[in-house]
Amino acid sequence: PSSFDVAAIRRDFPILDQKINGKPLVYLDNAASSQRPQQVLDAITHYYTHDHANVHRGVHTLSQRATDAYEGTREIVRQFINARDTKEIIFVRGTTEAVNLVAQSFVRPKVGPGDEILISGLEHHANIVPWQLVCEQTGASLKVIPITQSGEVDFAAFEKLIGPRTKLLALAHVSNALGTVVPVEKFIAVARQHGVPVLLDGAQAVPHGKVDVRALGCDFYCFSSHKMVGPTGMGILYGRQALLEAMPPWQGGGDMILSVSFEKTTYNQLPWKFEAGTPNIAGTIGLGAAIRYLESIGLERIAAYEHELLVYATQRVQEIPGVRIIGTAPQKAAVVSFVMDGIHPHDIGTILDTEGVAIRTGHHCAMPVMDFFRIPATARASMSFYNTFEEVDALAAALEHTRKVLG
Ligand code: PMP
Repeated sequence: PSSFDVAAIRRDFPILDQKINGKPLVYLDNAASSQRPQQVLDAITHYYTHDHANVHRGVHTLSQRATDAYEGTREIVRQFINARDTKEIIFVRGTTEAVNLVAQSFVRPKVGPGDEILISGLEHHANIVPWQLVCEQTGASLKVIPITQSGEVDFAAFEKLIGPRTKLLALAHVSNALGTVVPVEKFIAVARQHGVPVLLDGAQAVPHGKVDVRALGCDFYCFSSHKMVGPTGMGILYGRQALLEAMPPWQGGGDMILSVSFEKTTYNQLPWKFEAGTPNIAGTIGLGAAIRYLESIGLERIAAYEHELLVYATQRVQEIPGVRIIGTAPQKAAVVSFVMDGIHPHDIGTILDTEGVAIRTGHHCAMPVMDFFRIPATARASMSFYNTFEEVDALAAALEHTRKVLG
């Protein structure tokens, strides 16, 4: 264990300090959604208690305060992912909405029969279904880069699949189902040679390490606030300015216009062109507080500590007879996905809950990954920087207990 002061960090997360079924809560479902520190809760409460009004609308003081806090967060996000300009930061509902926005506004107008959208076999449904919709709408086809037994995206197969028909490459940065860190730089370099724009689904990457969109060289980057200790219902679409400028608005309504008449409506400039209607102001402010909080700890330190947790959890889970870990890539986020001989993952999850241990069981919105491994589901323990080595021990003990009860 490192010098990381996890006890102090845990004091910031009031929800962690409770008993479930008489046992201390061990929250290991962070890939589905993380918890929030008091600093984020306080920022939201402070906003609603003192500063709430609609944004961009009024000359009155509260509206100005709300607008300043809302737009201030855009700059926090810009710095956080090292985007060039706040025009490139679009506030959306989450990763899902970000991908759908790009699918409908960027891809749909420029593809037709014969064109291809390239994804991988590792994707979350949020980075599959929006492309299937576009394909149905336009006649384009979806191509899938296969994955390997270790749960990695097959790079050699990718090099064969990309070509003149490819109109977009959409890839997970980190897999939610298995934890695989995809070496996206390699894929982006090849896509560049072919002139293919790249969208990255960063939902599982942003909470666990430093992301620099300019160093990556991607065209679009999508992530969700609720997986990075921020509020639900909030997310980010980063897009390169030149591409966003050329894209038509996705939704119409207030705030995204400059002037409206029945003859002709003109659209607002970036980023507001893509933010129709009253936005999630409190969620935005909460996300700003979440980023500040993560940065106060340091993304590099978070990544290093979580890696120690991953190594330890992998070893402890592997020791249990009859357990098989699914996803053994050399580079992984702190996710241990596994199956147990003769025990359905849902039963593992249910027994673990009686021991206070919260994990996710199921297909993790990545059914094609389950199909590839010919399993219906996995049990998945996903860790965050507020988890401890003792909690990993509690997981292992609860799995031993499960094996004795059901195995
Ligand atoms: N992509 C990945 C890799 C994810 O893990 C998730 C959330 N499980 C999503 C996309 C969708 O994110 P959201 O539900 O927040 O829109």
